[in-house]
Amino acid sequence: MHETRPAQAADILVSGAQVISPGEEPVVIQKGDVAVSGSRIAYVGPSPAPEEFRRGARVLDGSGLVALPGFVNAHTHAAMTVFRGFADDMPLMEWLTQKIWPSEARLDGDAVYWGAMLACVEMIRAGVTTFADMYFFMDETAKAVERTGIRASLSRGLIGSAPGADGALAEGTELCEHWNGACGGRITTMLGPHAPYTCPQAFLEKVMEAAADLEVGMHIHLSETEGEVRECRGLHGGMSPIELMDSYGLFEFPVLAAHCVHASDRDIEILSAKGVGVAHNPGCNMKIASGIAPVPKMIRAGVKVGLGTDGAASNNNLDLLEEARIAAFLHKLASGDPTVLPAGEALYLATLGSARALGLDRDIGTLEAGKKADIILIDATGPHMYPHHDMVSQVVYSARSSDVRTVIIDGEILMEDGAILLVDEEEVVARAEERAQALVRA
Ligand SMILES: [Zn+2]
Repeated sequence: MHETRPAQAADILVSGAQVISPGEEPVVIQKGDVAVSGSRIAYVGPSPAPEEFRRGARVLDGSGLVALPGFVNAHTHAAMTVFRGFADDMPLMEWLTQKIWPSEARLDGDAVYWGAMLACVEMIRAGVTTFADMYFFMDETAKAVERTGIRASLSRGLIGSAPGADGALAEGTELCEHWNGACGGRITTMLGPHAPYTCPQAFLEKVMEAAADLEVGMHIHLSETEGEVRECRGLHGGMSPIELMDSYGLFEFPVLAAHCVHASDRDIEILSAKGVGVAHNPGCNMKIASGIAPVPKMIRAGVKVGLGTDGAASNNNLDLLEEARIAAFLHKLASGDPTVLPAGEALYLATLGSARALGLDRDIGTLEAGKKADIILIDATGPHMYPHHDMVSQVVYSARSSDVRTVIIDGEILMEDGAILLVDEEEVVARAEERAQALVRA
């Protein structure tokens, strides 16, 4: 990581932090500097950085802090924060049909905007610098992303079997036309066919046609529950949802697939061969008792696995650091093998793994010169962070998201020493609470 770009004065210099950048093995610099020029990282290496990266830079003292690439939440429904804690402890289908879908029918753009604002502020506080979202009224989520300064890959959720499916696809298309590459590239877009059981083949054909025209990928839920897989095999000549989507040609496009809990060995071969990104959501899968995704097997097979929180109604927070710890613990327990999913791999899943699953790894996921400056600083001075034997282990197994002190996204300082700078956090919380209460009262 002794990398430099052509000499250019830096705007921000994180000085004297312990720097950790994920990879096959995490790269650790005990005392390092990270220089930011414009929206990109200009230098990562030992401290002090060469003079040209220090000249004129705003210096952030990194002593006692760990610098990491921001976490990448590979699957969520940001505005669902308005449904947090309103319907817990229910089976997935009952939860969807009796609680979530009827309430979602009452959603409007205003509720989505403030729900997404709440989600963005919560994620920035937790060091999440990018999220992949699928929902409705996505213009409003895009406005929240624009306003808060976070990075996102947005898709309009499409239920092909519902009335108005073509209108939804038109909205999804407009979202891509209007927002793909917006905010200096901070916003990217996909199309969002919800799932095989809500999107018949004829509809998926239209989605694929639109994806080809727009040159975007797709974000979909696949094989989340056992029942879904059983029903699919019954209806489609024994094919699993993953085999079915492959037979339709969906995986000829870049695809981000949430869950893949009930993926067979054959499914894993397909996911690997077709380069499908998988968003593993262990907290949500545990809470809804959907099952345990075969993540260690997927990783061994070369599947591009990342980590997501799913929506706040089924997690119930958007804390990816917690998700990394849950992932490590869950797969150790499930396999009966404590060597499975070690700390470095969990950190990889939450950063570079997710960036790969989203197809954004050229720009984010590590701290390297040339990449986008999405950097978080974690306080390593709390009692639970000592002793300092192995900081990768401390971050994954012991740090709390509230230890995130400073967040830089796209070269912009969005949170500094615990203070959110660009938005009025009190207003966001109050407005989201008003909208959430109104939705439940209605
Ligand atoms: Zn989801």
